[in-house]
Amino acid sequence: MSEAVVILKKGKMDRIVNGHPWIYGNEIDAITGGQPDAGAIVDVVMKNQKFLGRGYFNPKSQIAVRLLTRNRAEKIDEDFFRTRIVACRDYRKKLGYNENYRVVFGEGDSLPALVIDKFHDVFVLQTLSFGMERWKEVIVSILKKEFSPRGIYERNDVPVRKLEGLEERTGFLSDPFATTFNIDELGVRLQIDLVQGQKTGFFLDQKENRLALKHISEGAEVLDCFCYTGSFSLFAAAFGAKYVTGIDVSEEAVAQAKQNASLNPFGSVCDFQCANAFDVLPQWVKEKKSFDVVILDPPAFTKSRSGIESAVRGYKEINLRVLKLIRPGGSLLTFSCSHFMSEVIFQKLVSEAAVDAHRMVRQVAFLSQSKDHPIVWNIPETNYLKGFLLQVL
Ligand code: SAH
Repeated sequence: MSEAVVILKKGKMDRIVNGHPWIYGNEIDAITGGQPDAGAIVDVVMKNQKFLGRGYFNPKSQIAVRLLTRNRAEKIDEDFFRTRIVACRDYRKKLGYNENYRVVFGEGDSLPALVIDKFHDVFVLQTLSFGMERWKEVIVSILKKEFSPRGIYERNDVPVRKLEGLEERTGFLSDPFATTFNIDELGVRLQIDLVQGQKTGFFLDQKENRLALKHISEGAEVLDCFCYTGSFSLFAAAFGAKYVTGIDVSEEAVAQAKQNASLNPFGSVCDFQCANAFDVLPQWVKEKKSFDVVILDPPAFTKSRSGIESAVRGYKEINLRVLKLIRPGGSLLTFSCSHFMSEVIFQKLVSEAAVDAHRMVRQVAFLSQSKDHPIVWNIPETNYLKGFLLQVL
C-alpha cells in the first residue's frame, strides 16, 4: 500500500468521483505520511477519508496526481501494468485490430500519459508524465514478453514532457533495429520512418476514416490537403481515383509520400507537391481549379482553450477555400484533431464556410477517431478527432 495520502479539499469533486483521473494541485487540501517524491504512488482520499483511488504524484506538474486505479486492493506493480496492457490488446483484438494499431491510448485505457503504437512487429512508445516515465523499463519488459517485438523505439520528443519536468528524448528501447520499414495498412503499402516521421511515425487514428473514400473516389479527381506521407491519397488511388494531388508544407513528408506512391501499383495516379495550403488554395480558387473529392486533415490549430478563436479562423478559411474548389455533387472530407475544437464549434464553422462559399452541403457521415483510440465520456480530453464527410451540392 502507498504511504503518502493525498486528501482532497472539501467540495464538489464530481469530475474526479465520476471517472476523471487527474487531480490538480489546487484541489489538494493536505498530504499525510510525508511529502512524496515525484513519481511516487499515493492514495487519494476525499476530505471525509473516503478512498478515491491510487495513482502517481508529481509536485512539478499542475496535474499533481493521475489515478491508475480506483480499486483499493490493487497494487501498482509489474503485474498491474501487465494486466492493463493485456486488457488493451484483448479489447483491440475483439474489434479486429491485429496488425497496425494503437495498443495503449493513455487516459482512454486507464494508463494515463502512456501511448504505445504497434506497426506489425515494431512498437513505438511515449511516456508523457513523470509518473509513467518511472515505469518505462517495466512496460518495455512487458511488451517484450507479451508481443515478442522485433524492436521498440521511444518517441518522447513531445514538448508536453517539459510540464512534467522531463526532457525530450528519442531512441531504442530494445536492441537497435531498422527504423525504416514497410507496413501493409488495409491493402496499402506504406513506409514508416520511426526517426524522421511526425509523432509516432504514422497517424493510426484516421485508419477507418480513410475507408470513407471508398466508392466516392472511383474515377474522381482528388485533392489531399495536409497529406503528410500520402495515406489518404493512396487510399483514394486504391479506390479508383483518376488523379490525386497531395500537398504538404513539409518537404520530408512529401518525399515520403512520393516513396509511398512508388510502393503501390495504383500509386502512379498520385502527384505530391510541397506547398503551403494557405497560399495555394486561394490561388487555385482564382485559377478556377476543381476537384471531385477534397480531403482536409490539418494539424491541430490550437492546443489550448485560449487559442480557439484564431484556430476557428484558420479552419474556416481552408474549408471555405476548398468548398469553392469542389464540383457540384462532389465530396469534402474535413477534420479537426484539436480536442478544444468541439464537434459543435467545428460543425458551425464548416457550415458558415459553406454559406460564405455559396454552397449547400449535405452530411453523409460524422467521423471520429479509430476505435483503438477509445473515448471515455467522463474524460473529455480523450475525444479529439472529429470530421465530416459532406456532399457538396
Ligand atoms: N492526413 C495525414 C495526416 C496529416 S497531419 C495522414 O492521415 O497521414 C498534418 C500535416 O499538415 C502535417 O504533415 C504537416 O506537415 C502539414 N501542414 C501543416 N501546416 C501546413 C500548411 N500550412 N500547408 C500544408 N501542410 C501543412
